[in-house]
Parts: sequence; C-alpha cells; structure tokens
Amino acid sequence: MDLQALLDDIARESAPYAAQGKVASYIPALAAVDPSRFGIALATMDGQLYGSGHWRESFSIQSVSKAFSLALVLARDGEALWQRVGREPSGSPFNSLVQLEYEKGIPRNPFINAGALILIDRLLSLTGDSLGTLLAFLRAESGTPAVAVDPDVAASEAAHGHRNAALAHFMASCGNLENPVDLVLDHYFRQCSLTMSCADLAKAGLFLANHGLRADGSRLLTRSEAKRINSIMLTCGTYDAAGDFAYRVGLPGKSGVGGGILAVLPERGVLCVWSPALDPHGNSVAGVEALDRFTTRTGWSVF
Ligand code: GLU
Repeated sequence: MDLQALLDDIARESAPYAAQGKVASYIPALAAVDPSRFGIALATMDGQLYGSGHWRESFSIQSVSKAFSLALVLARDGEALWQRVGREPSGSPFNSLVQLEYEKGIPRNPFINAGALILIDRLLSLTGDSLGTLLAFLRAESGTPAVAVDPDVAASEAAHGHRNAALAHFMASCGNLENPVDLVLDHYFRQCSLTMSCADLAKAGLFLANHGLRADGSRLLTRSEAKRINSIMLTCGTYDAAGDFAYRVGLPGKSGVGGGILAVLPERGVLCVWSPALDPHGNSVAGVEALDRFTTRTGWSVF
C-alpha cells in the first residue's frame, strides 16, 4: 500500500470538513488558531514516518496529554490508581461537576478533567514533578527536545480555570487529592498547554501500539497494562462521543480541544491528526473524518 499517497488523499478529502466545526473559544489563545490548518502523520512500528498537510507544525495538545499521564502513572503505581478513579465512560461533558458530587469525588474515568487531575496528583506524589516527568518522556519518545509548554496558553488556562479549580477543590474536600490544589492545577494547566506536532505525537505514542515497549526497547508498561490503556482510550478517549468515534473509526483514540487526535493501530503504528475546528463534543470534525477514511480504506481497525 502506498501510505504516503493515501495520507495525501485523506488530507485533501478531509480538510474541508473543518467548515462544519468551531475552534475552541474558552480561552483567547486557542480561539486565535487558524481553523484551516490540517495535518496527519503516521508513525509505523518499522520506524517509518509519513505525513501530509501541516503535520510538522506544533499545536496545543490539550487532553491528548492525558493518555500519556495515564501510562506514566500505571507504569509506576499499577492497579492502585483504580481506588481513586473509575474506568467507565461518563456520558457527561469532560468538565462536568454534577457527576462528581453524586459519586463522592471519584471521577468516572482518567480522561475527564477530574480524572486527569487525579493522574497529575498521583504523578506528583510519585515523582515530585508531574509535568517534568511527562515532558522528559515526550521528548525522549518523539526525539524532539523542543517539546515545551506554550506560556500564553498556560496563562490563559490558569486565568480561565475556575471550573477545573472547582473540580480539584471538590475532590480535595472528599479526601481524594494528595497534594495542594494549587500545585495540581498548575501542573494540569501547563500540561494542557504542551505544544507538539502530529509527527511528534505519533512517534511518542508508539509504545501503545507496541505492547508497552518504548522507542529504545525498554519496557514502560506490561503487555496487559498497554492493553488496558488502549481499552480506556476506546471507551472514554473522545469525550462523550466515544461510542460514535468507536463506530466510525474502530480504533482507540484520545482527542483534545486543540483539535488533535491520537489513534492507535495495535502492532502497526500510531496516527495523529490535527484540525482545530471541533464538533459540539470537543472532537476535531475533520480529524474524525480523516481517521474514519483511513480505517475504511486500509481495513486497519481493531475489529
Ligand atoms: N484545557 C481544557 C480544560 O481543562 C480542556 C482540555 C481538553 O479537554 O482538551 O478545560
């Protein structure tokens, strides 16, 4: 199969779908992003990298980062995490407060904001520096030392972070936070503000397609842990539209409101798409379209 020609076709056919979406507007730094940007990259297990469109341009990875935080916590702490966070789809918006109160401060899953705050809290306890641990991992796996926080996005996240602060304070009131709220939020806001390209993200995610083995051949996760992360991505990785994403794409995926989506092709590679215009759930419209076309054309889904 000519993968380069395939990605070029998919980019050309999918990019126009951005017109159906809207760029995230909850912070000015994201609202200013050009909605016509579109990139797609495929990193394969045999070390090849293909891309089309703006696939080498950095964007705000936002919640795509949560898949990596989950891996770093599970690698160090194993099953203990599941005392503090569930692994069921929430069916509610990613920043919902209502469910958290009903369920006594235990977030439904690690990918809604409350669950991601738990991941950061735990990684802070385990390493002393959640963001630093994540950055070192992403730089090593992507081979890009320039992976960094965008300070303008981070400042904007902090200035508009009242809802995340409410989630963190509520969990602290339930005894489900180990570190000071402000410290957890600071690491969360900066983590959401990491910028990476489709190429960087596709390479950084390869351990998920490779049963937990890192780029240097060392083991981050057991085979079983890598399976579990992929499972949670499939059921909870694309906000409260994970059912629709699974139906259309048939791959584990994690999206972010910057318009990025990372999708895992087990034993084959990792695809990353970026197009900033989102559907009402927070998933990139052209990004989902491109992944749908890719698995339809190649037959490379998990089903
Ligand atoms: N940074 C955003 C927030 O915490 C959301 C990140 C995302 O879902 O991509 O509200």
